[in-house]
Amino acid sequence: MTTLELLSHSPEETRGVGRALGQHAQASDLILLIGDLGTGKTTLTQGIAQGLGVAQPARSPTFVLVAQYQGRLPMYHADLYRVNNPLEALELGLDDQEREAGVCVVEWAEKAPEAFPQEHLEVRISYDGEDFRRLTLHATGPRHERLLAEVARSLSSEGAPRQPS
Ligand code: ADP
Ligand code: MG
Repeated sequence: MTTLELLSHSPEETRGVGRALGQHAQASDLILLIGDLGTGKTTLTQGIAQGLGVAQPARSPTFVLVAQYQGRLPMYHADLYRVNNPLEALELGLDDQEREAGVCVVEWAEKAPEAFPQEHLEVRISYDGEDFRRLTLHATGPRHERLLAEVARSLSSEGAPRQPS
């Protein structure tokens, strides 16, 4: 599976998508979040943290380049929004060995497309009315295709959120 489109009706539903991602993620998975301010990238990241069993909730890493959390795997959370030199920030904040041991989640990944390996899961979020968000998940490479397929299966057995018709 390479693409999954979802419609979320609430922050809780978006968190639920994140939770499924966190539950099925494996070491070295890379999740790139793309979408305007307020679409729900941090909300989704909170769900990923929950799904990974991280105790404290994810906030935007304002004072550190890359926030680290410990769940069943390490989770690294970067937010490139205010970062002047995203490539340098990522290199300083996280080495390759660390990244490969955990799950990496990057908000505003489009600011540094050259910084990331070709294989990743991209999540694009856009507004679709006040509390509605359209989520387009696109996987590149077999590992992330597996992740996407497992997320799709777990969401469809939960019954929500629905795929847009
Ligand atoms: P970002 O990190 O993309 O800037 P946040 O996750 O910080 O966005 O904020 C998203 C805001 O939108 C929150 O205030 C959240 O409550 C609200 N919201 C409303 N509907 C949704 C939805 N369906 N999914 C995610 N967030 C939503
Ligand atoms: Mg954010």
